[in-house]
Order: sequence, then structure tokens, then C-alpha cells
Amino acid sequence: MAYTGENKKPLYRKENKTVHGYRGDKGGDYCHSRHTKQTHQEELDEVARKGMKGNVKRGRNYTPLFRFLLSKVGQNWNEVYSEAVNRLDTEKPIFWMVALKEEDKKATIRIKESSYWSGLYVDENNILQKVNPDLTIQDLHPYCNCCTHTFNGVEFTNKFKTQST
Ligand SMILES: [Zn+2]
Repeated sequence: MAYTGENKKPLYRKENKTVHGYRGDKGGDYCHSRHTKQTHQEELDEVARKGMKGNVKRGRNYTPLFRFLLSKVGQNWNEVYSEAVNRLDTEKPIFWMVALKEEDKKATIRIKESSYWSGLYVDENNILQKVNPDLTIQDLHPYCNCCTHTFNGVEFTNKFKTQST
């Protein structure tokens, strides 16, 4: 879709089959399919709960949207929202990251296998905020050894620790 104006590129990318950051040399297939199932279930839950219109097409990477929303923390939600929807093919991914209801607020959200992003919400003054602004990448630990975990687009600094050695 083409929109006029400066810097109004779509907030998603079309992806080919290459999974960015996937390291397939550690017996990760089982691990990966497991994560994918969980993520898919979360997506179904999300649809069931929110009943948002619009289907999210497969092969869309919404990393630019999440970066955009993060960069707009502290700004008026109406303006952020209207710019975001103008640059998307469906508004649904916005609400993966932005909680509109108290019970939907999460410190982090997870996209695909191992991409974590700060959970956001809209405060009583209609300002976009982080659910937990104190959370840093140091607080996050990978849950497996086969994925490259990222938080807000940055690779985790903590390494995976096996439970039983
Ligand atoms: Zn994994």
C-alpha cells in the first residue's frame, strides 16, 4: 500500500522463508516447533479475547511497528494510533503490544519464538506508557538454547542456563 507524505513507509515487512536468527545446528527443530505452537495458541487466545477485525497475514514481520510504538512512549495515543493504522494493513498487531484494558497489561510480550518487546498501555491521560519501565534486558533470561532471544530488538545478554547438569 502506498501512502503519501514523508517517512510514511509501512510498519511491517514482507518476509521470505528465512527465519531471522534461527540457528538450526543444535537440535532445535523440536524446540522451535514447540515455541511456534505456543505462539500460535497465544495468537488464537488474543483473537478470541479481543475479537479484533482484520486478519494478520502470514509472512508479515511487524518489527518496524514495535520499534515505532516504543519510540512513541510518552506521546498522545490518538496521534500514535492514527499514524500506526495508516501505515499498516491491519490494526491487530498494534494490540499485541498495547493493552487497552487493565487485565491485558503485560511487562513483556513475545512475538514468534523468542522476540520480546516491552508491553505498553495507554494511561488515564491518554499517553502511551510502558507497563514496566524499570524492566531491562538484564532481567530477562533465555528459556532455551536453540533460539536467539531479543528484547526490543537487542540480543539478550544473559545466557541460557540448563536446569539439570
Ligand atoms: Zn528455542
